[in-house]
Amino acid sequence: MTQDLRILHEVQQCDLEIAERQKALSALDSGEELNGNIASIEEELAQIRQQREQAEAQNLDYELELKTLQEKRERFQKQLYSGSVSNPRQLSDLQGEVDMLGREIGKIEDEMLELLELLESTGASITQKEAQLAELKEQLAKVRSDSASTEDRLKGEISELETQRRESAAKIDPPLLRRYEQIRVRAGNVGIVNITGSMCPACRIALPSETIKEAKAGRVGLTCDNCGRLLYWEQPEED
Ligand SMILES: [Zn+2]
Repeated sequence: MTQDLRILHEVQQCDLEIAERQKALSALDSGEELNGNIASIEEELAQIRQQREQAEAQNLDYELELKTLQEKRERFQKQLYSGSVSNPRQLSDLQGEVDMLGREIGKIEDEMLELLELLESTGASITQKEAQLAELKEQLAKVRSDSASTEDRLKGEISELETQRRESAAKIDPPLLRRYEQIRVRAGNVGIVNITGSMCPACRIALPSETIKEAKAGRVGLTCDNCGRLLYWEQPEED
């Protein structure tokens, strides 16, 4: 019956629409890439924080060392200028100590300047990376929530299409439905085609005029010689 072919064609439309939505489902962004970026920035941030903590600890050590050296130098300077030492050899030794301490203090001050730069640059990096991280996390949350709502919509649509398909399929002669299924499985989800001209719309091969005539007459079970798909000629609406 031609009616069967028309309904089978509806089943085919459902199958194509279901496949389209399943493809969309599997292409949904789970946020994997963003998640990977977040993980690597978190790792970088942890390294910078560690570097900064070490610099802070080193800075404290230098501050203590500096204080000790400065106190020592002050003691020697006091002795040197107090007038209590008059021996030139002793005076020269004291001056030597003061000079040496001055050089050590200078070295530490230079190191501390470098540390200060490091503290400033790591501080800026931490601020920048934290902002980047917050932005990426916000993006990830949005991607995930968008994907979740798209997934819900697609699943709902698939479920409706499946119901529609079941209802249509139940009206078709079982052997014809089985044949359609067999062809569809091996022919890329397309088991029946609606011909409108002289070619098979699936494989673009010219169909014999006799076949077209029979299709127009509504013969059930006609197939394309080339691709094997069922052929169906949609009768114009009679009104
Ligand atoms: Zn064909």
